[in-house]
Amino acid sequence: MPKPPANPYDLSRLDLDDILGTINEEVRARFGEGEVADYIPALADVPKDRFGMALVLLDGTVHEVGDSRERFSIQSVSKVHTLTMALEAVGDELWKRVDREPSGDPFNSLIQLELEHGIPRNPFMNAGALVCTDVILSHYDDAEASLLEFMRARAGDPDIAMDPELAGSERESGHRNVAMANFLRSFDNLNNDVDEVLDLYFLQCSLGMHCVDLARSVQYLADDGRCGPSGERVTSAENATRINAMMMTAGTYDAAGDFAFYVGLPAKSGVSGGIVAVVPNVMGLCVWYPGLDEKGNSKLGKYALHRFSRMTDLAVF
Ligand code: GLU
Repeated sequence: MPKPPANPYDLSRLDLDDILGTINEEVRARFGEGEVADYIPALADVPKDRFGMALVLLDGTVHEVGDSRERFSIQSVSKVHTLTMALEAVGDELWKRVDREPSGDPFNSLIQLELEHGIPRNPFMNAGALVCTDVILSHYDDAEASLLEFMRARAGDPDIAMDPELAGSERESGHRNVAMANFLRSFDNLNNDVDEVLDLYFLQCSLGMHCVDLARSVQYLADDGRCGPSGERVTSAENATRINAMMMTAGTYDAAGDFAFYVGLPAKSGVSGGIVAVVPNVMGLCVWYPGLDEKGNSKLGKYALHRFSRMTDLAVF
């Protein structure tokens, strides 16, 4: 009888700490690769000698390595969480205002928005994220406090905070986002004051979290919409499935195809070098390395996830 293949979901076959240790060594040998996102003043000086990685299993067990407790501004990783909040607020009505197709264009592109009459291609493009932020502003009396509370509950960390100084510095230089928000407003696809939407958007990007926080914060996407730390149902199982699908097809800028090719996990990246990923039914993950590749994804973070998915055989394909 041929031996049956190993069950990929049986983690007892893996020494996860050993795997993380190997990846950590490989990444540290390549420190310095990639470029930091210097278009955001506060990110221009971040050293490229930091790497952290954390896994949070569905039972709450944490495996981590390197600089996994150093906080960084999560930037576009926040778009996963604001999409979830927007879906909870207005349900499928959201899809009248944002599409769910990959774009093939950079995250801050304005071209498609003009051609497609103000409907952003997906919630992970900046334009789509601005619509989600607008929905949150309309839905909550104190949107900023609600967003902060949501993040703290998802990560089980009451110390998570926004960084108004960082947000302000991006506000000063974020001309393209300002243009985009005004453009959306001109198509009647923002209901709130443009400045208020931008202020909250930059604040959500400035949230300071570390890899363990972030891995925990996406655990609900691995667990059919249930949050590990709070035990709450965050969203429906159907929405969790859909958000994972969008992370796979559009979560890593205009390199989502390449990400599926090399990593094979739903993931969302941010320009500060963080990437969250999900192994459905198994774990939430996060990697952080500040040097980016030409598409804006953490260069060694992507490499680390590639090695992880291959060493564990946990890619969804
Ligand atoms: N705050 C950044 C911006 O809007 C986030 C970009 C990103 O991480 O993709 O430009």
